[in-house]
Amino acid sequence: MVEHDLRRRGVRDPRVLEAMRRVPRHRFVPGMPVERAYADRALPTAEGQTISQPYIVARMTELLHVDPGVRVLEIGTGSGYQAAVLATLGARVVSVERSPALAERARQVLADVLGEIEAVEDGDAAVRVVVGDGTLGWPEGAPYDRIMVTAAAPSVPEAYREQLADPGLIVIPLGDREQQYLTVIQRREGQFVQTRDTGCRFVPLVGEAGWGE
Ligand code: SAH
Repeated sequence: MVEHDLRRRGVRDPRVLEAMRRVPRHRFVPGMPVERAYADRALPTAEGQTISQPYIVARMTELLHVDPGVRVLEIGTGSGYQAAVLATLGARVVSVERSPALAERARQVLADVLGEIEAVEDGDAAVRVVVGDGTLGWPEGAPYDRIMVTAAAPSVPEAYREQLADPGLIVIPLGDREQQYLTVIQRREGQFVQTRDTGCRFVPLVGEAGWGE
């Protein structure tokens, strides 16, 4: 998967590639044959949600520039797979999920898996999964050095700019319900600069500052 789907498609950051090698993706999709879990496709999780294709997970992680010890806010815990990749890079992650059932399952898998694998770099890595409407961010843990949104948003919720440290980075799929672009928002000396990366397709970010049900 790392050679064929990630490196060849242009993911270059060696730390990201190593983290993708270490996190056992099949553990986050119970009941799926192991080979299928590593195909470069999105996979179904519980509750009609999806776990992104490995290429998108790797690309988003690369765009987020995760140094050891950074404080990351992830929106949309889902299976917990992306959070595990971030923690393996040494991030301290707060991950917000609106579904209590998904959050509970992700907590268990993360506790098992993160206990077994070795971090690429250890920066007090940890994942805290919380339940709530992630379109409002998670003010208690702010400011965050990085914010990663793993559901499709119509625009950047105001809370993210407010809860982002300076300097800081947001990676978010922006677009309509069908098609989005990974978008990077960089904050530096009070200014926000937005750039667009690859096309993608995520499930909708549902909430007060996202899409309606
Ligand atoms: N990062 C996940 C994939 C996320 S799929 C992984 O690695 O598996 C998108 C997730 O966002 C779903 O679990 C969905 O329930 C969640 N979601 C949608 N709107 C949300 C909101 N407003 N706040 C928190 N989570 C939300």
